[in-house]
Amino acid sequence: MSVPITADRENEVVQAAPTQLFIDGEWRDARRGRTLEVFDPSTGRVLTRAANASPEDGWDALKAAEAAQKGFERTPPRERAEMLMNAFRLMHERKDDLALLMTLEMGKPLAESYGEVNYAAEFFRHFAEEATRISGGYQTAPAGGSRFLIHKQAVGPSILITPWNFPLAMGTRKLGPAIAAGCTSVLKPAELTPLSMLALADILREAGVPAGVVNILVTSSAGEVIEPLIRSGIARKLSFTGSTPVGRRLLEQCSEKVLRTSMELGGNAAFVVFEDADLDKAVEGAVLAKMRNSGEACTAANRIFVHSQVMDEFSQKLAERLGRMKTGRGVDEETAVGPMVDARQRDKVAELVEDAVRSGAKVVLGGEPAAGEGYFYPPTVLTGVPEGARMWSEEIFGPVAPLTPFDDEKEVIDRVNDTEYGLVNYVFTESLNRALRVAEQVESGMVGINQGAVSNPAAPFGGIKESGLGREGGDTGIEEFLETKYIGIAM
Ligand code: NAD
Repeated sequence: MSVPITADRENEVVQAAPTQLFIDGEWRDARRGRTLEVFDPSTGRVLTRAANASPEDGWDALKAAEAAQKGFERTPPRERAEMLMNAFRLMHERKDDLALLMTLEMGKPLAESYGEVNYAAEFFRHFAEEATRISGGYQTAPAGGSRFLIHKQAVGPSILITPWNFPLAMGTRKLGPAIAAGCTSVLKPAELTPLSMLALADILREAGVPAGVVNILVTSSAGEVIEPLIRSGIARKLSFTGSTPVGRRLLEQCSEKVLRTSMELGGNAAFVVFEDADLDKAVEGAVLAKMRNSGEACTAANRIFVHSQVMDEFSQKLAERLGRMKTGRGVDEETAVGPMVDARQRDKVAELVEDAVRSGAKVVLGGEPAAGEGYFYPPTVLTGVPEGARMWSEEIFGPVAPLTPFDDEKEVIDRVNDTEYGLVNYVFTESLNRALRVAEQVESGMVGINQGAVSNPAAPFGGIKESGLGREGGDTGIEEFLETKYIGIAM
């Protein structure tokens, strides 16, 4: 990692990356010969072109998954576990290429890409271990006369849809449990960042995953390609990670054939700093909760509530800390904040900041998009952001920290809960009692106490309210891909 990345090295990794569709164990072009451009957001330049699927390719992929399902669900769990462990090891062997490819197509700093490769691979190790622990039950009916046999079996072919912000980990978080449970799948990565998932397909093939078990469809016509597949009823499961509006539409489509669904949707996390918090710890927590992935994370702190007694000190320390973070191309070692993924995302961040400033917020740091090539927005701290400002209710998805004061515990809990989202919240206080009291009352699937990150493959990740349905990771992740069958046996 300490060796500087040269332009030749960037080209070599991009040239070596697969760009075709991966269907039924084969690499192939899209049937209509369509391709799409993949950009480097730090320069705005085209990196390469990837095959761009049409509905016919979608059908091929789903038919391949359907054909492979019966055989795959009968493979011994240990074999499925070995496939995942092989893939885990191959990801580590190829981490330099995977990390660089991710930085080039998505923009995040290289150190964070290495972190994501590691995090993504951990889902394979975790679910390799889970694959061999799928259990059931056996009991006598309470009134006698019958025995219950409880059997867990694969849900069936699954459609997996992932966003651009974590191009590898959002895929392995679904593929790990699907493979462990014995489900085949059609995975559609985001069109902005298809290369990481295509590189993973190659790894899965080498790891021994049979043809048809994992199929990767890249397309710029997501709705047109995916909707008929969902409505066909051939797939029995949809696992989606993305925005709430798209998730809502997909839930409607799934209702027709009553598909099992897992929905990892948007967030509007609050980050609460009480007057008794260790402020240095809180600042570091806020840096992580806000700046991980340059703020382009569903778990990003979107609303920062600071007790008025410590507001001045906290805001100065945070601005000082964020002011030291260098914005630049992710491949440069000093870079701490990469570009936004595209011009649209950068312009949205700029628009939300302008709206907050117009509504009365004060800019303490940053506040203007960077000029020049690439889609950069610098770290920004705003104080006195009024609750009517758009960024209070919309995901910012950028390196902007909006601060607002509070005075009372009950008041802040009500304000934290005043959103339709419920993914994660963060609480900083040195009082254990208060930390647990607040954690119990905030409406979210996850809470970080004195820590600015909650993602862990061994923990159940997910939201409540309009942030989603179901959990990924932990010991519940595999359940999302298993059906429970009860077999009654007469005595
Ligand atoms: P998005 O909803 O625009 O897209 C997500 C995926 O859905 C992409 O692959 C996209 O091509 C696909 N898609 C879009 N329209 C579709 C349609 N009609 N049919 C089928 N597929 C369709 O989201 P995004 O901009 O890629 O990602 C950012 C969003 O994802 C944010 O809201 C973020 O909070 C959320 N997210 C949530 C989690 C979580 O675990 N809760 C994790 C990461 C990101």
